[in-house]
Parts: sequence; structure tokens; C-alpha cells
Amino acid sequence: MFDTVLIANRGEIALRILRACRDLGLRTVAVHSDVDANLRHVQLADQALCIGPGPAADSYLDPARLLRAARLTGAQAIHPGYGFLSENADFAAAVEAAGLTFIGPPSQAIRVMGDKVAAKATMRAAGVPCVPGSDGALGHDRAEVHEQARRVGYPVIVKAAGGGGGRGMRVVRDAAELDDAVAVTRAEAARAFHNAEVYLERFLEHPRHIEMQVMADRHGHVVWLGERDCSMQRRHQKMIEEAPAPGLDRDDVARLGALCAAACRVIGYVGAGTFEFLYENGSFYFIEMNTRVQVEHPVTELVTGIDILREQIRVAQGHPLSFAQSDVTLNGHAIECRINAEDPTSFLPTPGDVAAWVSPGGPGIRVESHLYPGYAVPPHYDSLVAKILAHAPTRDLAIRRMQGALAETTLAGLTTTLPLQQRLMREVGFRAGGFDIHHLERLIQDGWHQGAQDEA
Ligand code: ADP
Repeated sequence: MFDTVLIANRGEIALRILRACRDLGLRTVAVHSDVDANLRHVQLADQALCIGPGPAADSYLDPARLLRAARLTGAQAIHPGYGFLSENADFAAAVEAAGLTFIGPPSQAIRVMGDKVAAKATMRAAGVPCVPGSDGALGHDRAEVHEQARRVGYPVIVKAAGGGGGRGMRVVRDAAELDDAVAVTRAEAARAFHNAEVYLERFLEHPRHIEMQVMADRHGHVVWLGERDCSMQRRHQKMIEEAPAPGLDRDDVARLGALCAAACRVIGYVGAGTFEFLYENGSFYFIEMNTRVQVEHPVTELVTGIDILREQIRVAQGHPLSFAQSDVTLNGHAIECRINAEDPTSFLPTPGDVAAWVSPGGPGIRVESHLYPGYAVPPHYDSLVAKILAHAPTRDLAIRRMQGALAETTLAGLTTTLPLQQRLMREVGFRAGGFDIHHLERLIQDGWHQGAQDEA
């Protein structure tokens, strides 16, 4: 049982982890790069340690530095947050080997689910519906590859087994493009992921992104906490997330949740996890599992009333989950808007000084942010600076509350995606719900900032 947690992350999620630890009476150790000494959680932690220079490879992504920091500070557990080393099976294994607790699933579960070919095979065997595709990784026989693509049916998407972050994928609409696409994706995958394996999937033209939150403990309990709709994306980066997903059949969702819970048992899953699906014409297709807490976890916390971070840490301490499946009920609707330090038309990063920051409030509003006046957003990391959440009995009221919250938000000095989020709250497609994953790209192409989109 640990009493000191090293937070191996930064920004809003580091602050969220710190708050969960504080609730549980745990000591916190903040580790940071030298450009991050002014982060909010660094100021608030019981102990703070600089572990290296700004570039993440020499600080947040260096397992040796993190383990040394744990040794120096007496931390017995490491919370990886999301991104950085959170889905790195070797890091999780190194933490385990050092006799520390990795706050997440066993390294073996991360390894299996981190290989998309292995993950799909495992999920299919567990009865979870998958996108129709090749039988595992593609071989090198050209005729055989073409036969697989014909069987799957064009258009297909060539995907890297080790891919992530929306990289290592290529759509092929026609057999004539197949050889090149496979070769290029293979070469890219070998370089970027040190794994040249690629596979084929049928390319779905107009899917929604629906994901299922699960939690498991070490005592054999697994629960599902409902779905999130994360279809508002740009370049595979989510911009808005909501729960529940508008218009889904609740029985279908319950069946999917039960399948995901069963799959967790098969892989010996522990902690918080998310099964990601594409949803088209009433069917769900598994694409990958995220073996960590996600950026958008608070929408599920708002509608279920369950503190996912708290449960995740308690489970890592060896406690059973504090609730059962029958305790999970959905209450109302929640929406999250991501505020990124990015130009809302070019989407180029806009690091810089925060001159003023006044966060919104009122019934149903929650803000997760590390911003404060005088804070400088460094150029080295992810551009997410705030998550604004609205919760209400109905989706309509949640949207209205979000509109109020965005209007109340004062953020001076930084250019952010706030104006885009304000527009999206009024946009006809978003208001109707049920739009596909290309919706936002279409709005951007049509020039949302010139007022070209339809407003409700
Ligand atoms: P990553 O690990 O890089 O996020 P995913 O497998 O989750 O990769 O896919 C990322 C995104 O790529 C999906 O959210 C979806 O937008 C698109 N995508 C992946 N597979 C398919 C598919 N079979 N059909 C259509 N779009 C897909």
C-alpha cells in the first residue's frame, strides 16, 4: 500500500491527479522539466523535483529519470496520466520491476492492447465486434495482399500495428494504389513505431466515434460506465466530447458495455480503460483500447457521479471498486470543450503569456485547467490549456450552460480555440447531434470563421 504518488505528467491532468491524491490523503511528488517550474501542480505538490530540460524526450519521456526521481523522493507509486509514457508497456514493466506501483493496468495488458493486430485478435476472440479486415498482419506476398483487400472490400485503410495518435494510416480506394500504400505505411511504421507490421481494415466512410469507459479491480470486479461521443475531431484530435451519445439505443449501449467488461476479464485488465469504436449504420466496430485515463474522462464522471481518478488510484492500492455495476446510473448530459493554445483557423500552436484568466462557474459547470494570470504556456508540449465542462438534466440545457460558460471565460494574452468552440455550440449539425467524425473538417474547409456554417 503506497502513501506517496509521483505524478509523471504536467498541465491539467497533473493537477487533476494531485487533487485526487489529496482527496485520498496521499502525498504527491511533482516532477517537471526546467521550463515547467511554474506549473500549478508543481506549486501545490508536497515535493517537487526538476528532472531535465524542456524537450520531453529528456524529461517526461525518460523512464530512467522518472525512476530515479521516485527513488530520491520515496514515492512508491507513479501515475502516468495520459500521453507521455502512459501507454508504454516497457515503462510500466520497469516501474513494476523497481518494486513500485504503476497506476494503470499490468504491463502485459498494455503490451497486448498496444499492438493493434494483437488487440483486434483478442477482442474478436472475446466477442467484441471489430471492423472487418485482414486476418492479422499482412504478409509480403503481393497477390495474397490483393486478395485480402478484395475480400475486405474497397475502400480499405492500411494501418500500422504499432500506430497511435492518428499516425500510420492510409486510405486506399482502388487496387491500383494498394502496393504503394502498403509499402509506404510499412516504411513509415518501421521508422516511427519500430514495428513494420501493417494490416487492412474496411474504411468506414461516415462513422461516429463512440467509446466505452470501463474500470476493473484486482478482485475480479469489472464495470462499464457508459459511452462518450467524441466525433467532433480535427486530424483525429478530439475537440468536443459528450455523454451520453445522442440518439443511441440504450439496450445496444448496455450490450456493448457488457461485452467490453467481459473483454477486460479476458485480458486481466485493472484500472481505468476505454474501448474505442467507430459506429455506423447501427453497428459498433472496435478500433483500439486506451489503457489509461483519458482527457475526456470528466464527462463520464459528471453523468455517473463516479470519481474515475479516485477509483483508479484506490484500485492500484489493492482496494476493490467502491461501487458495483448496479450502482452505475446515468444522470443528465455532459459536454466537454477543449480549449487549446492554437490559432482557431490555422491550428498552429500559440504559446505565450497568460495576461488574464477568469474561469467560468455556476450550476453544472466544471473547469479543469492549470492556467493562472502570469503563467506562460511553453512551446514544447501539447496545446491543451483548459477543459470546460457543462452538465445539466438535458442536452439542450447542457449546451446553453456551455454557451454561458464560454462567454464568461476571460482568457487574455493567448490565442485559443475558444471562439471556435463558441461557434460550434451554435452550429446546426452539433445542435442536432449524431454527426460523423468528418463534420468538423468540413466546417473548417467551408470557412467556419467567415460565418459560412449554418447556425441554430
Ligand atoms: P490511433 O491509435 O492513431 O488513434 P485509431 O485506430 O484509433 O488510431 O484510429 C484513429 C482514427 O482514424 C479513428 O478515430 C478514425 O477517425 C480513423 N479510422 C481508423 N480506422 C478507420 C476505419 N476502419 N474506417 C474509417 N476511419 C478509420
